[in-house]
Amino acid sequence: MEKLLLIKYGELTTKKGNRKMFIKILVRNIEAILEGEDYTLHYDRVRMYIESPNTTSIIERLVKVFGIHSIVECFKVNTNMEEIASSLVELLKEVPFQTFKVETKRADKDFPIPSMECSRKLGGVILKNYDCKVDVHHPDLTLKVEIRKEGTFLYIRENPGIGGYPVGIQGKGLLMLSGGIDSPVAGYLSLKRGVDLECLYFESPPHTSLEAKNKVIQLARIINAYSGNIKVHIVPFTKLQEEIYKNVPESYVITIMRRMMYRIAEGVANKRKLKVLLNGESIGQVASQTLDSMRVINSVTNIPVIRPVACMDKLEIIDIAKKINTYETSILPYEDCCTIFLPKHPVINPELGKCIEYENRFDYASLVEECINHIETISLKKQIIDDLL
Ligand code: ATP
Ligand code: MG
Repeated sequence: MEKLLLIKYGELTTKKGNRKMFIKILVRNIEAILEGEDYTLHYDRVRMYIESPNTTSIIERLVKVFGIHSIVECFKVNTNMEEIASSLVELLKEVPFQTFKVETKRADKDFPIPSMECSRKLGGVILKNYDCKVDVHHPDLTLKVEIRKEGTFLYIRENPGIGGYPVGIQGKGLLMLSGGIDSPVAGYLSLKRGVDLECLYFESPPHTSLEAKNKVIQLARIINAYSGNIKVHIVPFTKLQEEIYKNVPESYVITIMRRMMYRIAEGVANKRKLKVLLNGESIGQVASQTLDSMRVINSVTNIPVIRPVACMDKLEIIDIAKKINTYETSILPYEDCCTIFLPKHPVINPELGKCIEYENRFDYASLVEECINHIETISLKKQIIDDLL
């Protein structure tokens, strides 16, 4: 008996026109994550099979690949009734169940026994060998038997994948990544929609520490398990931030600082041909994330800004952060450029006219330009998430 893994494609059915691209990028991502494993991969428009002596470790890796709906452990046997029945009995030794049903699909019409009769016969053999019952409505186990020209496939166990679209199918965006809880979650959700990422982090040494920067890089590493080629760009933000504090009334410093961040982010995105900005803003969470603030801040840019967690409760975001293992890193207590010199009363409904007036007090354009031109870039290597914990 030959063991195979059947990879069921994710949300492919709704995207018929993009099928070819979907599969091509999924194959590329699977090959990247399986580097170093001993396997062969075959695929066509409807299914993909992986053969390997190490299916357990292959499954562990594939459950982190977006675009996979599920991974079915299946066995290929010769097409004859005795062999099919004895193989099923053998395979079920490993699987706990009390109720089951058999579903046969006879793709090879030369096989003499019709599907229904085949299911009935195989069901009879299983009942004879195990203490169990048939339940056609809610069985513990559905055994799928597919009779094809090249052999018969027995589908035993289905492992759920993480769904979504293959990373990269939408091209790349620029994630504004801080050390907080929200932006890594926003990054994970973007990757799940097929948007590959580069990350942008604003640092203000000596006001922010090396630990704060390393924390952001560690967060990028964790979400890189779902991508494989994330770059982190670090913006030297100190000079611009100090100018803001010198020239802008305290209640407006955060608003102006965020307008500068958007200007820089747009500049970096354009330079690196990244299609959108993404960030972890969530409506109402802090003064700079009221709708009034968002309007005034967003107005400095024309590039689309995607906010994957905009409408989530903090607790929902935390749940995802825990699931993807970013939470413990995010709550490490290092300061961020947004939290140093935090004003006592930040404005929650800023006026655009005032922002422009304050910004004209200093030559911000050349400082923005300088930030864009002095970015430090770190390229992360592909790493399996378990190696990081
Ligand atoms: P928290 O989880 O504590 O809310 P946060 O990272 O969401 O942290 P906010 O002040 O709410 O922090 O910032 C909103 C968004 O702005 C962040 O999610 C992130 O996308 C972006 N941002 C904030 N600070 C930085 C920074 N230093 N570098 C890059 N992006 C940042
Ligand atoms: Mg936040």
